[in-house]
Amino acid sequence: MFKEGLRSKFLGCMVGAAIGDAVGAFFEGRWRISLEEVTARLLEEPTLRYTDDTEMTIGLAESIIRNKRVEPDDLIKTFIENFDPSRGYGWGTIKVLRRVERGESWREASGKAFGGEGSFGNGAAMRVSPVGLFYYDDPEGLVTAAELSSLVTHSNPLGIEGAVVQAYSVSMAVKSDPREGFRWKDLLEDLIGKIARTEVFRRKLQAVKESLTKKVDREEVVEKLGNGVEAFNSVPTAIYVFLKNSKDFRAAILDAVCLGGDTDTIASMVGALSGSYLGFQAIPDEWFRKLEDGEYIRGLAEKLWETKVSLISR
Ligand SMILES: [Mg+2]
Repeated sequence: MFKEGLRSKFLGCMVGAAIGDAVGAFFEGRWRISLEEVTARLLEEPTLRYTDDTEMTIGLAESIIRNKRVEPDDLIKTFIENFDPSRGYGWGTIKVLRRVERGESWREASGKAFGGEGSFGNGAAMRVSPVGLFYYDDPEGLVTAAELSSLVTHSNPLGIEGAVVQAYSVSMAVKSDPREGFRWKDLLEDLIGKIARTEVFRRKLQAVKESLTKKVDREEVVEKLGNGVEAFNSVPTAIYVFLKNSKDFRAAILDAVCLGGDTDTIASMVGALSGSYLGFQAIPDEWFRKLEDGEYIRGLAEKLWETKVSLISR
């Protein structure tokens, strides 16, 4: 792939994820959201302020750039340093960060979450896009890195699986040429056949495939795929929304938000996928201009790309 194309995909992914998060944040937890309401709100809001999804994505990118890989001790430290309580973190994640700050190991703190089950929320999947970018050409390294990046806060197999499935999907979007149609059947075949390990995810991903081959309304998507904070109720949903709107970044984000529920995280994952596939130029300029810390996030994606390219060309 041309270096320039790859750069645009890195930028599109990280900026896209942040924009999806910030746009979705206005509607988090709501159920009935009309397209008119979303577009009107976006016109009147002066700033697109991001939430924990993006703050943690930034942390993961910063840590990968420093270490040239996913280094869990540095990663959790970065999450703690970046932590801003006004970003809407889930209480499970807050608890893990506090425990590690007080001296517990991340393994212990993360494992204790949710009565010793570990979290199966979408918190590891929502921040994983830098892993999908950095390991786009190394599927095995990607799986290991996505698992590690999840484990520091989300240790339940379903929480980890959400991160692996999302990272793998980002890597496929990076490798795909937007001038050709997205080979969605190949992606779903890979995910169902070799990436997903749990029945829950395999069943959901199968439902994504079925939903793409017929006309389904919003209620049916929410019922079959979900729109909640659990990894399995949001990662397959994001993949579905991206694949359904693969040619149009704006349509994909708006479609994600209109599903309601965990709108910031689902739209953020959709933004990461769409931006990875279509590149930075597909992102509406009026959205990028309003994005809080937009220049920092774009610069970070650029550094991640430079770090990656320097390793490839060695
Ligand atoms: Mg959030």
